[in-house]
Amino acid sequence: MTDRQLGFDTLQIHAGAHPDPATGARQTPIYQTTAYVFRDADHAAALFNLQEVGYIYSRLTNPTVSVLAERIATLEGGAGAVCCSSGHAAQIMALFPLMAPGRNVVVSTRLYGGSITQFSQTIKRFGWSAKFVDMDDVEAVKAAIDDDTRAIFCESIANPGGYITDLPAMAAVADEAGLPLIVDNTTATPYLCNPIALGATLVVHSTTKYLTGNGTVTGGCVVDSGKFDWSASDKFPSLSAPEPAYHGLVFHEALGPMAYTFHSIAIGLRDLGMTMNPQAAHYTLMGIETLSLRMERHVANAGKLATWLENDPRIDVVTYPGLASSPYHGRIASVCPKGAGALFTFGVKGGYEACVKLVDALELFSHVANLGDTRSLIIHPASTTHRQLPPEQQEAAGAAPNMVRVSIGIEDVDDLIADLDQALAKATA
Ligand SMILES: *Cc1c(COP(=O)(O)O)cnc(C)c1O
Repeated sequence: MTDRQLGFDTLQIHAGAHPDPATGARQTPIYQTTAYVFRDADHAAALFNLQEVGYIYSRLTNPTVSVLAERIATLEGGAGAVCCSSGHAAQIMALFPLMAPGRNVVVSTRLYGGSITQFSQTIKRFGWSAKFVDMDDVEAVKAAIDDDTRAIFCESIANPGGYITDLPAMAAVADEAGLPLIVDNTTATPYLCNPIALGATLVVHSTTKYLTGNGTVTGGCVVDSGKFDWSASDKFPSLSAPEPAYHGLVFHEALGPMAYTFHSIAIGLRDLGMTMNPQAAHYTLMGIETLSLRMERHVANAGKLATWLENDPRIDVVTYPGLASSPYHGRIASVCPKGAGALFTFGVKGGYEACVKLVDALELFSHVANLGDTRSLIIHPASTTHRQLPPEQQEAAGAAPNMVRVSIGIEDVDDLIADLDQALAKATA
């Protein structure tokens, strides 16, 4: 058993977890504590010097949260991971060790609406900026990189529009430029897509979505591959040079492949405080145990529903990459071989008005700003998540006024089809 490479279905249940040493509890306890008693003064000093790994204070690390971090790192094939309070927190945490005032990140035009706002507006307050590029245009991505660029950021399967990023191509561009590729793998999950195996340096998640899977808690995670050579250039001084925020420690020299993860805990969580709480980690650990089973059903249901919609005369277009008609169908084999996820958009004849009526007429589908729940969800991005974007950014993000986005759940697919059928009848009457 010991030298056996365990399968995904086993790791999603066991990775990172051990029976509780104090009680033998089989399920991971919720360690509802703020602080941890030091054995003695030397132990305390060793912990603060990062010479010994252990618990100090729950803003930094907590045993329940650590099990989740190790589980996600294992499923993603990473060296280490840090859990955060939300997916958006994870994105800031991912950039934090890399960026400084005046630095930029090259990002895809096809991102979650909230990420577009975070990158185009809010990060400017830190003196950072983002350059938005169509990642189907490899030359444009190369051209956008300049001396101040510190990372390339994209989503594996992009929210909301049924788009698959050519991750091997983006990894090659990042490699050539000596930059880390950061992939938001929220909508694919490590079951469908393994960005690190395809060349990504960092993977970020909104664990709020499929990893938890039941719509109960917000959370995020940053996974480091441990493979990037932070010392190959002078671009990443927080990792490769004495870090003034941690008494001059040279993280890469001292911690090797764990440099980025330790920096994210010792400085990122310490000073930004975007910490996941143990209750949230518990709910996500419960969810992640069934990730592969849920994803299989999500993908199967999405395929059947997308096919049904594509053949319906009330529908203009369906953007599911699982359909042969999708321009991104050909990328499934190389990027997400177990399926193209369960998130897609479709265009309703009748435009904005019909979309609004459709959303209101549905009975099983919930009208919510969320995705990756066991329940089927629908939203009209142009009137909600993407309404703050100008029309051309809405189009580029796949959120035109006639499009609705669905996150297909794991219910009986015939019930979902019946619900859409009755609501489309009302919306297009
Ligand atoms: C939801 C989401 C986020 C943001 O995550 P929160 O947990 O809501 O902060 C980021 N990226 C993608 C792709 C998402 O779906």
